[in-house]
Amino acid sequence: MTSRTTNRTPSNQLPSATVAAVPQQALELPRTIVVRDLAEKLDLSPIDIVKELLKLGLVANINQALDFETASQVAKNVGFETVAHAAGGRSSESTSSKRFLAEDDPDQRTRPPVVTIMGHVDHGKTSLLDVIRKTNVTEREAGGITQHIGAYQVEIDNQKITFLDTPGHEAFTAMRARGARATDIAIIVVAADDGVMPQTIEAIDHARAADVPLIVAINKIDRPDVDLERVKRQLAEQNVLVEEWGGDTICIEVSAKTGQGVPDLLEHILLVAEIEEFKANPNRRAEGVVVEAQLDQQRGPVATVLVQTGTLRVGDVLVAEDTYGRIKAMYDDHARHIKRAEPSMPAKVLGLNSVPPAGVVFTVAHDERSARALVEERRRASQGQEERHTGPVTLERFQESLLAGQIKELNVVLKADVQGSIEPIRASLLKLGDGTVRVRVLRAATGNVTESDVLLALASSGVVLGFNTRPEPGARKLADSEGVEIRTYDVIYHLLEDIEKALKGMLEPTYTDVIDGHAEVRQVFKFGRNSTIAGCNVTDGKATRAAAVRVMRKGTLVHQDKVESLKRFKDDVREVTVGFDCGVGLESFTGFQEGDILEFHHQERSS
Ligand code: GDP
Repeated sequence: MTSRTTNRTPSNQLPSATVAAVPQQALELPRTIVVRDLAEKLDLSPIDIVKELLKLGLVANINQALDFETASQVAKNVGFETVAHAAGGRSSESTSSKRFLAEDDPDQRTRPPVVTIMGHVDHGKTSLLDVIRKTNVTEREAGGITQHIGAYQVEIDNQKITFLDTPGHEAFTAMRARGARATDIAIIVVAADDGVMPQTIEAIDHARAADVPLIVAINKIDRPDVDLERVKRQLAEQNVLVEEWGGDTICIEVSAKTGQGVPDLLEHILLVAEIEEFKANPNRRAEGVVVEAQLDQQRGPVATVLVQTGTLRVGDVLVAEDTYGRIKAMYDDHARHIKRAEPSMPAKVLGLNSVPPAGVVFTVAHDERSARALVEERRRASQGQEERHTGPVTLERFQESLLAGQIKELNVVLKADVQGSIEPIRASLLKLGDGTVRVRVLRAATGNVTESDVLLALASSGVVLGFNTRPEPGARKLADSEGVEIRTYDVIYHLLEDIEKALKGMLEPTYTDVIDGHAEVRQVFKFGRNSTIAGCNVTDGKATRAAAVRVMRKGTLVHQDKVESLKRFKDDVREVTVGFDCGVGLESFTGFQEGDILEFHHQERSS
């Protein structure tokens, strides 16, 4: 059963249900509805609905779930107008990452787990991905060419596992930051000889922040003198308790070099998948994530997508952010032509009109016209306000959401100069909550604020708090461009005070100073005793009437004031742009000198 009704030519062989005389009325329909319930709503027998569906080219049983478009089409054909139910009324092009996890969907089927491998550099992530890929498919399909397309599937005992083959928590979290939850299980690789290292801890934090189940793979066990107990103890220090340490984290000892333990690892992935019951409905329009994409000289834009729900077919119109196109051809990870891709299957698609960014969510539209309309709507929306699923939060915005009752937890990434500061700050932060609101520390570590910290905060709608530490330039740039708040402190009390105020909704708004421009004083005109006008030239930005002014002399601040008058020739003006001359009078300053620099600035609320 598929929901691609409008792409098909209706067959007219079946008699129409006897309902043509039903008057037009607006019927509220949920996002998905099973045939039987739709029949009840339309006051028809389920068989009539099945017949209507057949006319649309769809074979369905009475327990089949229909999406809004399909149900709506059927209802329309029998004389009803429909509207989407408010609670579930977002269009099927909705991009919420949880959209297809509806538990009441009876059409859900078990799907393969999607796995990401993370860990410290050189601990063997790439080697492990390679050996897993080879373990299975290439050997069985002699001559099969494995292609790197960003994700691949292997099959063990007739069960599939999908691996995303861009290892590392950065890629994982970058996807989350874009609203996609692509990973079901995270494998944390730790080299047996090296033990837990900073990026191992980072990877654990990132997986935990995403609430993804962990499996630890201790790699390189073929090396002499490895101390597995030491690694397990180090993991315990990070609160990752393997079975011998009284916990329930699965820990498998492997060697990516010899292949030892790899089948065991795969078995355990399947075990976790069985426990977690990853499901999706293959009988609906596909939705998923763009894993990677590039421009191919011959074939144009090529994207690898991971289908998360529904079935993607050649001919479908795929929409990803502001890119769309009818799929001309699809390939699997062996470069074989495929016609369809089911949940958890990666596929390389051709036919998009431009290259979508990696990590964005894709959907399938009815047709190219509605795809274009959707893309245009998104462009308009993004010009006004960024459309985000998860997104940046500042302490002030957190407070607003808190007061509006939309949020109960403040996610925090904490960085401090020394280990000794971390625990007391973390403990105090956790104590600040009061049962209804609380702080969740996603990560607490020593060192500067890095890009990875900012990404983690972005993906989890959190803020970064730095104590006696500074953001690295890359981190600052990323934070500025994505709107992530980094607050730095050198007094613990101030840090705790701000967070406490935010949790209680008592935080004062913060303001940032924005510089509008500079003007150089070229001539000074005195009018009587109390009035002096500085004849200036605007050297950068603009001079504005509404601004405040700092008078700088040889780099030193001599006075701060408000603009009283701003004139071009004899006219009062609101602003004067770069390159032009103007006359500036200040409210309480007359001591201008030639060569003074006037800095025009104003305060803006920083959230
Ligand atoms: P990544 O940075 O985590 O992707 O690590 P790589 O997969 O690139 O591996 C780093 C180095 O460790 C390479 O030289 C690998 O050959 C080596 N290596 C990886 N796995 C094993 C292993 O199980 N045993 C041994 N002896 N070496 C390994």
